Amino acid sequence: MAGEPQADCLFCKIVAGEVPATVVRETETTVAFRDINPQAPTHVLVIPKVHYPDAASLAAAEPGIAGDVLREAGEVAAEEKSESYRIVFNTGAGAGQTVFHAHAHVLGGRGLQWPPG
Ligand code: 5GP
Ligand code: ZN
Repeated sequence: MAGEPQADCLFCKIVAGEVPATVVRETETTVAFRDINPQAPTHVLVIPKVHYPDAASLAAAEPGIAGDVLREAGEVAAEEKSESYRIVFNTGAGAGQTVFHAHAHVLGGRGLQWPPG
């Protein structure tokens, strides 16, 4: 069923507590944890607890939870005292997506170039 945990999904395992993560915030619908390979002083991933392969499919099926992910991304930035920050949803392998469970990257704590690479 749509949204159900996937046995082979790393982020579903983090939601289930089967893979450890440095969790910074958790709500009924989301988990935020530090990226294992940080690209900035603040690099936190915000994920929905339900499994959808990318942000757009999450938003189409569960717009309220997609909103929760965005709100939590802002809360993470505030907690990290990042006044300027970037929220990124890599979508598709060509854009750098490697984990196919929707997630927002929250990047901050340094200057961020635009356009990105
Ligand atoms: P993507 O490349 O799909 O947009 O982002 C996946 C992110 O997950 C990468 O930035 C990668 O460093 C991070 N990541 C991969 N495996 C793990 C893990 O086991 N734990 C944590 N905390 N982050 C991970
Ligand atoms: Zn998943």
